[in-house]
Amino acid sequence: MSADIGLIGLAVMGQNLILNMADHGFTVCAYNRTVSKVEHFLSHEAKGKSIIGATSIQDLVAKLKRPRKVMLLVKAGNPVDYIINDLLPYLEKGDIIIDGGNSHFPDSNRRYEELSKKGILFVGSGVSGGEDGARLGPSLMPGGSAEAWPEIKDIFQSISAKADGEPCCDWVGPAGAGHYVKMVHNGIEYGDMQLICEAYDIMKRVGGFDDKEIGDVFAKWNTGVLDSFLVEITRDILRFNDVDGKPLVEKIMDRAGQKGTGKWTAINALDLGMPVTLIGEAVFSRCLSALKEDRVRASKVLEGPTIPQGLIKDKQQFVDDLEQALYASKIISYCQGFMLIREAAKTYGWKLNFPSIALMWRGGCIIRSVFLGEITKAYRANADLENLLFDDFFKAAVTKAQSGWRKTIALTTTYGIPTPAFSTALAFYDGYRSERLPANLLQAQRDYFGAHTFRVLPECASANLPLDQDI
Ligand code: NAP
Repeated sequence: MSADIGLIGLAVMGQNLILNMADHGFTVCAYNRTVSKVEHFLSHEAKGKSIIGATSIQDLVAKLKRPRKVMLLVKAGNPVDYIINDLLPYLEKGDIIIDGGNSHFPDSNRRYEELSKKGILFVGSGVSGGEDGARLGPSLMPGGSAEAWPEIKDIFQSISAKADGEPCCDWVGPAGAGHYVKMVHNGIEYGDMQLICEAYDIMKRVGGFDDKEIGDVFAKWNTGVLDSFLVEITRDILRFNDVDGKPLVEKIMDRAGQKGTGKWTAINALDLGMPVTLIGEAVFSRCLSALKEDRVRASKVLEGPTIPQGLIKDKQQFVDDLEQALYASKIISYCQGFMLIREAAKTYGWKLNFPSIALMWRGGCIIRSVFLGEITKAYRANADLENLLFDDFFKAAVTKAQSGWRKTIALTTTYGIPTPAFSTALAFYDGYRSERLPANLLQAQRDYFGAHTFRVLPECASANLPLDQDI
């Protein structure tokens, strides 16, 4: 039997994607470096399904239909290069290598270039949704050699999640664009999670709510504009009690970990000069949380305001304001994420499929939400949209949310509750809508100490003060 696709890497993602492909009628050939895992998989999870196994890379390639499609779900980094090198002697021009791992996009750019020279088509595909997504319908973000897309489209769009009947998978763009978009997706995920955590902290510390009440607020929010996977799981987490009947979440150490994709996004934003402040704050918030011992010490010696008992008189108004603050901040985060992707497209010379990017995130992945449907609509109406805030829907939403957003941040600032993501979102909004910023003074300072020169406002230019100063 010859297979439609080969898949290398039988850890959690690889196994679940193979089962998903088999469920959709494709024959898959499975291979893993530790070959005993192939035998185990074939005799257990894969039993009775259209899945065959290979005992070596050569055997795998020999069992594939032409053009051969080999998908890699292995540890990101060197293992991807090792496997590509092992595959190359057996592949022919026009065959396709797909890397579905969490590779950093510069690696995918390099692999695309190297393989293109050999006539091998390379696809770097973001895969999101974890184990369940891989099994039942992930969000897939493929990019690379465009000639590969017609060959893999049927498999990819069949196995992906569907939102409003449309597959959460489409061609993203050239070279490492698929992995780039997955990286920004992960950065946005950091931002969404931080915003939700700040909302929880505000309800707890300013509002005096217990976990059940906060869980109920998230349950309510999940029926409105904030309807999303992350709000839904937060509701469940807050309602989950330990064996002693107390909320488990309150027993968890407040020190966040990270694997690095948020950091990659923030570094790339700095490289491209894009003010992606919310993701940056989300990454730094995890760093601050990791300084647990310092914070414990500081909490005993550094003064701050005291929150009076019963501060919040109108709880419903407080919750409504907070919902608006969360919604507006989330809009800003996505607006910044799309600004970054737009700038990357310019800098790297990629033609990207903007309406499809939002649609790919609409279902199957961790940031899936109803809200992404609105972003899809905005980009379908205008694929060249400069900024989401110029779209009528989002402009109106932020305008409506402003009062609650400002009241919430005023409250947290007054009472000393840290809200870095909420606050930076508002600061960005106010900066972005400012025709004039104090960068005039900054330029004068730079020129004063460093002779960096400055540019004069066109309406102020004169014979004495030419447009470009080089004093
Ligand atoms: P993983 O733990 O990242 O990787 C394990 C797999 O990599 C095994 O098949 C292992 O083979 C193989 N491997 C490791 N080093 C190798 C080498 N030097 N040569 C050949 N094979 C090697 O597996 P995973 O969690 O399923 O993730 C797979 C990829 O998807 C990763 O890039 C991950 O970041 C990405 N991803 C994961 C998730 C998730 O929720 N887990 C979600 C999205 C994306 P052996 O069995 O022989 O050790």
